[in-house]
Amino acid sequence: MDYKYDVVNIFAKILRAEIPCSKVLETEFSLAFNDINPRAPHHILVIPKGPYVNFDHFILSARNEEILDFNSTISSVIIKIKVDPCNGGKGYRLITNSGLDGVQEVPHFHVHILGGRPLGGMLS
Ligand code: 5GP
Repeated sequence: MDYKYDVVNIFAKILRAEIPCSKVLETEFSLAFNDINPRAPHHILVIPKGPYVNFDHFILSARNEEILDFNSTISSVIIKIKVDPCNGGKGYRLITNSGLDGVQEVPHFHVHILGGRPLGGMLS
């Protein structure tokens, strides 16, 4: 595995509180905050606190409790912003970009939660 984590990426700085974020939720292993450039009424980023570059790095390297906590945090945010369709919400989309073809901008693993309007086709 060749995952080189950049310790000065913007999300690492947010985790170290070197730059601010608009926090939505925080747990022992995960942090959720509003995207600085929202593409939908709800646009929240969920990140693990550990130094993981992308999804495959996270799944292959993180401890089970980190992976469970990360997924639970995504679920908690979805419930918090009331977009869960099983509970009367209108739905949401989860996206994680990875690498060059995925056009990942920030090299710290994150999942985008988007909602609050019809989101259109999957790719434009
Ligand atoms: P990616 O393209 O890597 O999947 O998405 C990175 C996301 O991070 C983008 O949606 C971008 O708007 C967001 N972003 C970049 N810099 C900052 C920042 O300093 N603060 C916050 N809250 N979001 C950021």
